[in-house]
Amino acid sequence: MNDRTSIHNEERLVSPENTENYDPALRPRKLQDFIGQGIGRQNLETFIAASVQRQDALDHTLLHGPPGLGKTTMAQIISTELGVGFRATSGPVIARSGDLAALLTNLTARDILFIDEIHRLNPAVEEILYPAMEDFQLDLIIGEGPSARSVRIDLPQFTLVGATTRAGLLTTPLRDRFGIQMRMQFYSNEELVEILLRQSKSMGVALADDGAVEIARRARGTPRVAGRLLRRVRDIVSVEGESLITKQAADAALTRLEVDQRGLDQMDRRYLKSLAENYGGGPVGIETLAAVLAEQRDMLEEVIEPFLLQTGLLMRTPRGRCLSKLGWEYIGFEPPEGAAKQLELLSQELHHENE
Ligand code: ADP
Repeated sequence: MNDRTSIHNEERLVSPENTENYDPALRPRKLQDFIGQGIGRQNLETFIAASVQRQDALDHTLLHGPPGLGKTTMAQIISTELGVGFRATSGPVIARSGDLAALLTNLTARDILFIDEIHRLNPAVEEILYPAMEDFQLDLIIGEGPSARSVRIDLPQFTLVGATTRAGLLTTPLRDRFGIQMRMQFYSNEELVEILLRQSKSMGVALADDGAVEIARRARGTPRVAGRLLRRVRDIVSVEGESLITKQAADAALTRLEVDQRGLDQMDRRYLKSLAENYGGGPVGIETLAAVLAEQRDMLEEVIEPFLLQTGLLMRTPRGRCLSKLGWEYIGFEPPEGAAKQLELLSQELHHENE
C-alpha cells in the first residue's frame, strides 16, 4: 500500500486509492472486456496488433491519470493480449540500481515490466533506465574506488509499461522515451453502469439496472470507487435481508454511508468548506490548505482535487485554489461581496493560461 495514504484515506469509501484487496478475478483480462477509454484504447489495440504481427516488443508505454481508472488493469491486459510475461514493481520499491538490474536481467524477450508510480523512481535508478529503454543495454558500475569498473550487459527487448498519477513530475528524458502515451480519462456514468453490472455478475450479486445507475452516479467517474461502493451496498442490503439491489436500496445504503448524490464525502466537503470559511473561497495555495486540513499536499493533489476539478466545483488558478460558482452553490454558502467579480477575473486568467 502507498505509504503516503493518510488515515482518512483508508477510511474513505470514495477514495480512488487502492486500500483493500479483493478478488482479482474481477479485473477484466482481455481488451474487449475493458470498458471505456475510447480512442486511447482503440489506439493501443492497434499498436498491440501490430506488435503481435511483427513479433517484436511493443514500444514502451506510459499510462497516466488519477488513481483507480484502470492503469494496472490495462498493463496486465497488454501482456495477456501480447501473450508475454508480466512483472510488476513500483518506483519507490526499486531503491538501488542493482534492484533494477536484477529485474531487467530476468526478463525474456517481449516481456512487460510494469513500474507503478514511476514518477517516484530514485534518480540514480532512472539514469540506468535510459540506456536500458533505448538500446536494451545496462551499464553497471561494479565495485568501489580505484578498483571500480563498468560492465555493459545486453538485455532482451522488453516493454516498459509505466503508470503515474502525476505525469507532470516525470523528467523530460524519461517521458520522451515512452513511444506510446495514454491518458486515462474519468468514466461516464453509462460506462460505470456497464462495469458494475459485469462485476455484480462475477460476484454473484443481484443488481438491478436502476441500482447500478444509482451507484454509478456516485462513483466519481472511477471504476475502483464503483466496485467498492457496490461491495458496501451489497453488505448493507444483504444484512437487511434483501437480495436485489434496487435504486431505493442503493440510495438508502449510500446515504447511510455518507456518500452524497454527487459522490462527495465528508473529506471533500471539509476541503470545500475550509476554502470558503477560512479563505473567502480563495485563491489559496495548496501548502496552506494542506496545513489547515492536516493532510499531505500529495494526497490533496492526487486524490481529492482531481474529482473536484473535474466536476467544476474547484478551480486551479495560477494564484491558488479557488471555489467556483458551482462550489459555492454546492456547499450552500453565500459568496462574500466581491467574490463573483474576482472569480470572473481568475477565470479569465485561467483562460489565458490555457491558450
Ligand atoms: P489504477 O492502476 O489506475 O489505480 P486499477 O487498474 O487497479 O487502477 O483499477 C482499479 C479497479 O477498477 C480494478 O479492480 C479494476 O478491475 C477496475 N477497473 C478499472 N478500469 C476498468 C475498466 N475499464 N473496466 C472494468 N473494470 C475496470
